Amino acid sequence: MTTTGGSYLEQLNDVQRQAVTNTDGPVLVVAGPGSGKTRVLTFRIAHLIEKGTAPWEILSLTFTNKAAREMKERISKVVGSRAERVWAGTFHSIFARILRVEAEKIGYPSNFTIYDSDDTKSLVSTIIKEMNLDKNVYNANSIRSRISSAKSNLITPKLYADNEEFRAQDRMAKVPHLATIYQKYVMRCKRAGAMDFDDLLYRLFELLQKNPDNVLEKYRKKFKYILVDEFQDTNTLQYAIVRKLVNYEGSDRNICVVGDDAQSIYAFRGATIQNILDFEEDFQKHGIKVFKLEQNYRSTDHIVQAANELITYNARQIPKRIWSDKGEGQRIRIIKAMTDSEEGKRVSDTIMEQKNRFHLSNSDIAILYRTNSQSRIFEEHLRRLSIPYRVFGGLSFYQRKEVKDLIAYLRLIVNPRDEEAFRRVINFPKRGIGNSTIEKIANLANSKGISMWDALPEFGASGRSGKSIADFVDMITKSAKRADTANAYELAIYIAKRSGLIDLLKSDTTVEGMGRLENLNALLDGINAFVEEEATDVIGTEGTAPPDKSLASYLQNIALLTDFDNNENDGDHITLMSVHSAKGLEFKSVFVVGLEEKLFPSYMSMDSIEGLDEERRLFYVAVTRAEQFLTLSYANARYRYGSMRYNEPSRFLEEIPRQHVESTAGVRSASPEMSSMSNGGARIQGNFSRPRSAETSKVKVDPSTFKPSPHESIEAGMRVLHLKFGEGKVISVDGGKGNRVATIHFKDVDNPQRRIMLKFAKLQIL
Ligand code: ATP
Ligand code: MG
Repeated sequence: MTTTGGSYLEQLNDVQRQAVTNTDGPVLVVAGPGSGKTRVLTFRIAHLIEKGTAPWEILSLTFTNKAAREMKERISKVVGSRAERVWAGTFHSIFARILRVEAEKIGYPSNFTIYDSDDTKSLVSTIIKEMNLDKNVYNANSIRSRISSAKSNLITPKLYADNEEFRAQDRMAKVPHLATIYQKYVMRCKRAGAMDFDDLLYRLFELLQKNPDNVLEKYRKKFKYILVDEFQDTNTLQYAIVRKLVNYEGSDRNICVVGDDAQSIYAFRGATIQNILDFEEDFQKHGIKVFKLEQNYRSTDHIVQAANELITYNARQIPKRIWSDKGEGQRIRIIKAMTDSEEGKRVSDTIMEQKNRFHLSNSDIAILYRTNSQSRIFEEHLRRLSIPYRVFGGLSFYQRKEVKDLIAYLRLIVNPRDEEAFRRVINFPKRGIGNSTIEKIANLANSKGISMWDALPEFGASGRSGKSIADFVDMITKSAKRADTANAYELAIYIAKRSGLIDLLKSDTTVEGMGRLENLNALLDGINAFVEEEATDVIGTEGTAPPDKSLASYLQNIALLTDFDNNENDGDHITLMSVHSAKGLEFKSVFVVGLEEKLFPSYMSMDSIEGLDEERRLFYVAVTRAEQFLTLSYANARYRYGSMRYNEPSRFLEEIPRQHVESTAGVRSASPEMSSMSNGGARIQGNFSRPRSAETSKVKVDPSTFKPSPHESIEAGMRVLHLKFGEGKVISVDGGKGNRVATIHFKDVDNPQRRIMLKFAKLQIL
């Protein structure tokens, strides 16, 4: 996009333009992938600014900082640097920013700490230990997610404890003390002046609820226009907050949400596609305008059609028809490998081939997988071919131990009541304050209901640890005083030296040790860059107020970063990421790997239709990231949990109609065993028609009772059951070994005669 001024409207189709220019009142855009929903939001913001709305009166909520930043870049192409001042950010970062200003109204300090998931887990573990509960029964991770889900549903510890149903459930699950743990957890966070990620939503809701006149009204007036991307992934609480901010009962309801029910992939985090349906209903009486976009501008036709067909296997969806005028494009390539290592090799070889043949840059290519642990094998093979890559979603820079150690010191300087930071560094580097002393401090704090830091003066230990504690207090207090005059960078250098962290790392001359020192230096450089940066932070500032460069502001920024958000521009590399994190993105060439039963769909979701449908939506998201080339791969066997496991190809492969799949090249190059495919493959072409719409494919077989038979045993004349098409009769079987294709007549579908490739199909002999 290079134009400026009014001509931006010419870069939209008619429906998109209407969705952009209908600025007043509620607007819903439900549309499929690649149809320009995000583009509509971006242009709408630009349009509002062009028409005279102040940038800081616009609130735009997205799911990743990367998306927010890209949006700002695109807006600035139309309106210039004013784009920086838009309140565009993730739910969490925007809400943290509001809370920073208003926290005291709900009993938090304005310099509150944000607890990350490690802090949360560690606090839960501490509580379990203090209560003398068995940590094998009270698993910290599952307790943490129970607490998180309670918060997301606005269930306070008191409501939880009073609810007989929850308590009965907990008794059944043998964790009867969960309510108490929850109550203690909330109390301890508050005492430490800390909010976890859920609190950023939960406490904001509380703030708005409890302060209708002085807070809610202020933000309602401030945000004249609200926009939400990927609305299908909002949870109940996020929607509740948005509804409040948009002044649902009042008169100005300038809200625009865009989403795609078929791409909803966070049900496990409490997101429900119900929100899209509710939105339409909720705003019906306020004259909601609904726009549907149908043209896909991202992908070529084989990819779009394959995606369309695939999603008809899901039970519930808002009917949509997506088309593309980008031409047929390449068929989808399927790579079959014997082992996971062979899969890694074939995928890397294919990447090399595509780069050479089609002149693709590395950044045009992505490998997407269901679980992060799958990245390793691809990394190995890409390294062998010297193809640069970047893994998103692994251990992020800010999760490394040495980085967390220094950050813990910084957190303590800003908020000494931060208990997780306190525990982390009170005796690190070692200064002679032993575990038993730390436990005594914790007990004193608990008995008085105060933070560990506040308990120190009363603790009054004598001897060696007494002196060490006094030194520690002195160090933190002096640093905090310095914060009045020194900037974040100077302060970080000071504490890194004074605490002994630098000396400790310097004394370790192993390669790993030097790496850790480098990481610490990189962190310091990052803080320096933050201080010096002219531009405003991700969430933008308002009017002419100078950007907040305090240590507190730095810590807030990094607490909400994911590794996604760093070093993005460090050269031309292939992207490796989970399908979840690929939401909203696009690449010329996409590899979706590990397409095996129990892996994708994941074994955890295979027992229910809802679970399978969610996996299929995830697969749909993966497939629709591709612009020109889509390659799907699977391995017959892979190492998982320490031993070789044999897997069937994923059912999703079968759901891609054959006419969109490359019949020879990809398959022939896949493995010697498959080379016989080329003959039969040609015959399969064109014979594979499937019902087009959701209504024609209603047959559902309960997957929990469905038991597929080995495909070698399927013969002509048999009665068989198919998960989607139901009961049918095998008319004939042809094709060579490993490549058999059955013609089956199904009883209850519109287009009864089907050609089915037995290797991919799941059929149960009746
Ligand atoms: P997803 O559901 O995957 O998030 P989306 O609906 O948000 O997709 P966008 O990312 O906005 O889709 O658009 C997909 C691609 O199509 C982008 O590269 C965008 O620039 C391009 N595009 C959208 N609309 C048009 C248009 N009218 N003319 C040209 N290109 C367009
Ligand atoms: Mg989008």
